[in-house]
Amino acid sequence: MDVKVPDIGDFSDVPVIGILVSVGDTVAAEDPLIELESDKATMEVPSPAAGVVKEIKVAEGDTVSEGSVIMVLEGADAGDTPADAPKEDTAPAQAPAAVAATGTATGQGDIHGEVVVLGSGPGGYTAAFRAADLGKKVVLIEKDSNLGGVCLNVGCIPSKALLHAAKVISEADEMGEHGIKFAKPKVDLKKLRSWKESVVNQLTGGLSGLAKVRKVQVVNGYGRFSGPNMIEVQTDDGLTKVSFDQCIIAAGSEPVTLPFIPHDDPRVIDSTGALELEDVPKRLLVLGGGIIGLEMATVYDALGSKVTIVEFMDQIIPGADKDIVKPLHKRIEGRYEAILTKTKVTAVEAQKKGLKVTMEGPDGEKTDTFDKVLVAVGRKPNGHMVDAEKAGVAVDERGFINVDNQQRTGVPHIFAIGDVVGQPMLAHKAVHEGKVAAEVAAGEKRFFDARVIPSVAYTDPEVAWVGVTETEAKAQGIKVGKGSFPWAASGRSLSLGRSEGITKLIFDEEDDRVIGAGIVGPNAGDLIAEVALAIEMGADAVDLGHTIHPHPTLSETVNFAAEMFEGTITDLIPPKKR
Ligand code: FAD
Repeated sequence: MDVKVPDIGDFSDVPVIGILVSVGDTVAAEDPLIELESDKATMEVPSPAAGVVKEIKVAEGDTVSEGSVIMVLEGADAGDTPADAPKEDTAPAQAPAAVAATGTATGQGDIHGEVVVLGSGPGGYTAAFRAADLGKKVVLIEKDSNLGGVCLNVGCIPSKALLHAAKVISEADEMGEHGIKFAKPKVDLKKLRSWKESVVNQLTGGLSGLAKVRKVQVVNGYGRFSGPNMIEVQTDDGLTKVSFDQCIIAAGSEPVTLPFIPHDDPRVIDSTGALELEDVPKRLLVLGGGIIGLEMATVYDALGSKVTIVEFMDQIIPGADKDIVKPLHKRIEGRYEAILTKTKVTAVEAQKKGLKVTMEGPDGEKTDTFDKVLVAVGRKPNGHMVDAEKAGVAVDERGFINVDNQQRTGVPHIFAIGDVVGQPMLAHKAVHEGKVAAEVAAGEKRFFDARVIPSVAYTDPEVAWVGVTETEAKAQGIKVGKGSFPWAASGRSLSLGRSEGITKLIFDEEDDRVIGAGIVGPNAGDLIAEVALAIEMGADAVDLGHTIHPHPTLSETVNFAAEMFEGTITDLIPPKKR
């Protein structure tokens, strides 16, 4: 077969800078064949199929465009050539194991969907809408009255509304130091709550409208598999049988509970309880120094609670590099009552005057009494809640459903996506997987081949990271270089009254490609998207350093971090030449 240059975006006449194989080589599908360099990025052209290189039709220095023939492969199946060959992992990975289906339901249900989606969170509603747009008759099953799942109802969206309120309060307070003094804010909790709810309702109501326009049939009720092609839904009107040709499980996750904490006491809350904002406790203990716990701490601190954080690991936000977390730690250390790392809570006793909490830390055991305890120690997948085994779908002991890189479970016509298939439990990962599953169900050749998934803590300052962290690189023995730019030298950051931020880029020492980043500072969550794109595009330090960023913006710090690595920075003294 002739191997052609696939879709390479808007580029044409791109120089070939490397031939990565020789005549006679045996190559696997996706092995890189040649390397191209546009004025924006270098990119590899992968082999569309397995075979033996019979002839190489280009040489280094030649220029090629989409459709140019670069090689002839022998033993390859031309019919198997993907039109837009994805970069990585584009062969279906080994299918996960199935189990013998224990459900006996067969035949046509009361309702039939070509594609039935179980759960309407960001993963589920995205999959349902995409499948409908691709011409499928779709049924969406949801147990709650609102569509949108955790993210829209009790997760990403209400938390960000409250974090915005917290930001306004703390920024107004801090302007006092710069000559503008506001009176202490009067917080009307009822109004704040109803504003947060209006944001949620606007979004979830919008989803119902979008479902209607697409003719996605929404069935409200709790769904459980009763056979390999059937889900039984407990609705307000009784049991409804929904049969399907293909199904996408998007049942999400729920908060982890701890056995030694009295969960029937209203003073013990999880993230959903914290978002309800019933009151502002005088002293709040946040159990868990991860993203969710710290975001809620940011809200309650701004509203006036005295916050204590307890974290079992030796740092808060254990997934990110220590140097990136440090500015956040330093700032909240000055505001909160205590941040106790390497500490675990061993008992919580409900007493009349409060919740008596026993903790074990580096200095031994101690007890303290709090008005409320927020348990934010992680989330567990809902795999065990849907009787998946009745359809033959295996669920591991933690509740995760294994899938291949097309989101297929061990039962080929049943897919799974989002929190229920694994970490990171993030909405944007669920959305991406939802699109992959829907497109594969509609017969398209799609794979989950994202190189990286960014993570963000919307604390103040925000902490964001993507790709390889410095800690991971060290642990894995990957040789990396880094470019780190302190925001104290960013005009935009100083003009926001903030100087503690850092933008750190991690580069592969071999080829200078960016493979990771950690950013801390206001709006770090927005800034990390540029680095995610750079990693997907295979950009290197020169690509980032030579891209003109608008001035004065925080986005320049990405540019400057690349220049720190290159040694070409002019806004600071460059580090020693590499
Ligand atoms: P979910 O959103 O969990 O949706 C699953 C849906 O399935 C639910 O609606 C549920 O009712 C329904 N369901 C389950 N079982 C059944 C059944 N048997 N029958 C019928 N319906 C069923 N992520 C981010 O990316 N950014 C953030 O800023 C962010 N903030 C967060 C803040 C908080 C406080 C929390 C708790 C989470 C946050 N997350 C955030 C995580 C994010 O909410 C989840 O990763 C995301 O919602 C997962 O989407 P999903 O589609 O897999 O499942």
